[in-house]
Amino acid sequence: MFIFYGIKKLTKKKIGYAKDHCNACEQEAVVEKWRWFNWIHVFWIPLIPIGYRSNWMCTLCDQDANARYKTGFVRKIFISIVLFLLVLVMFQPGTIDTLEYGLIVKILSVLFFLLSVYWAFKHNKLPSKEQLRKNITPVDLTLCLYCKNPLAMSPMLSCISCKTQVFTKID
Ligand SMILES: [Zn+2]
Ligand SMILES: [Zn+2]
Repeated sequence: MFIFYGIKKLTKKKIGYAKDHCNACEQEAVVEKWRWFNWIHVFWIPLIPIGYRSNWMCTLCDQDANARYKTGFVRKIFISIVLFLLVLVMFQPGTIDTLEYGLIVKILSVLFFLLSVYWAFKHNKLPSKEQLRKNITPVDLTLCLYCKNPLAMSPMLSCISCKTQVFTKID
């Protein structure tokens, strides 16, 4: 029997905002914390609760501000190794010699390998997220960004009017 199942996000809600460096658009931005509850669903019926999940969405580019968007050095080296193995296969006698464009394919495979090595070695190490966060101008602790009403300090920093929490730290 065919069983359709997966993860269902329920009660997705924006719970607050903060200032952070966004990994996607690489600039200082207001980020919004979204929280939802994950369930395993079977035929869209939520059956097994998994728990709360949350992320921070950038208000400038509408992407996850903490996701990884750049290829890391180790991954680049890995791609180079895969391309090198491909070159070895290409130059194995009999692999593609019978093809009409065999020589071009061989040259291209070498070219791609050399480009990948160049790409890996001109890799600039980016400053860490902690370093980038040190340069962020802090969030306004007095007025709500959305409704401009004064913020309450306790039990947590938040706007009483629009029920938005204001975060001074990204968790
Ligand atoms: Zn962004
Ligand atoms: Zn507000």
